[in-house]
Amino acid sequence: PYDVLVVGGGPAGASSAIYAARKGIRTGIVTSRFGGQVLDTVGIENFISVKKTEGPKLVAHLEEHVRDYDVDIMNDQTASKLVAAEQVGGLVSVELENGAVLKSRSVILSTGARWREINVPGEKEYTGKGVAYCPHCDGPLFKGKRVAVIGGGNSGIEAAIDLAGIVGHVTVLEFADKLLADAVLVRKAESMSNITIIKEAATTEITGDGEKVSGLTYTDRVTGESHDIELEGVFVQIGLVPNTEFLEGSVELSQRGEIVINDRGATNVPGVFAAGDATTVPFKQIIIAMGAGSTAALGAFDYMMRTPVA
Ligand code: FAD
Repeated sequence: PYDVLVVGGGPAGASSAIYAARKGIRTGIVTSRFGGQVLDTVGIENFISVKKTEGPKLVAHLEEHVRDYDVDIMNDQTASKLVAAEQVGGLVSVELENGAVLKSRSVILSTGARWREINVPGEKEYTGKGVAYCPHCDGPLFKGKRVAVIGGGNSGIEAAIDLAGIVGHVTVLEFADKLLADAVLVRKAESMSNITIIKEAATTEITGDGEKVSGLTYTDRVTGESHDIELEGVFVQIGLVPNTEFLEGSVELSQRGEIVINDRGATNVPGVFAAGDATTVPFKQIIIAMGAGSTAALGAFDYMMRTPVA
């Protein structure tokens, strides 16, 4: 069995594995895709100490760093179930889709999250070419330009306020007849002169010239009329979904399906820790996920030092 088994090989998992392996304990990483969301990222400009890099390049460095240690990397493997130890100090089991069962004294869950997509024509085609999901990451690429934010919940209105300070103009498109964001955020957005809010708007297509985004089409749900907006960027803000479906019933999850952790990265199951976008951590970023990964690994190590083997 392992001492630490990390499930999910994004930045949180990579960081956990390195911190664990540096303690000289038996460490494994099982992941459906080493690199996680970073693999899908084009430019990264907020990974502190590296002025500018690209997702695949950062992933290559992550993998090189992990491989520098004695870590079993099991790539292309998906976990389907977690079974708690029969008693505290016993072995936790992780079942894989291929039927194998891995056992470990401690487990770190770092399965990340995925952006909810709107699934309209043009979205996939122009992702990274005008269609974006992370205002902290990509906002500065649209300096002085016109953008839309799709979604009028908290993340959408926060994105609009954030972007309004950088871009030329922001149009918020909300499908419902009212904004679901907190009133204080809505008031702030409404007070900003370069934000326009359109309700009851169903986005139907993101258009472009083949190279990059040039506009967006929506249907007014009251009149049924179709409208075009010219713009250079579209931020889709309709939710981040944690990859935790396989944990339902075994680990405490929040209402949004995020793994509930304490400040040591511990979950409610003894020996099971978690880190990164899959958890209740309020902000989802690479550098935050890496910090959380190291916290969870140190938390797991501390747990093992203090818990007699059952
Ligand atoms: P993830 O990166 O999501 O990794 C999770 C891993 O777990 C994946 O490898 C996945 O395959 C694996 N996995 C999932 N389920 C299972 C399972 N059941 N069994 C086994 N493995 C599983 N952040 C920044 O700081 N700067 C940026 O510029 C930036 N740009 C971004 C651009 C895009 C397009 C996207 C999508 C995100 C961006 N982010 C950026 C956010 C950042 O990528 C995430 O915050 C970060 O990757 C989270 O790390 P993580 O390790 O928690 O999860």
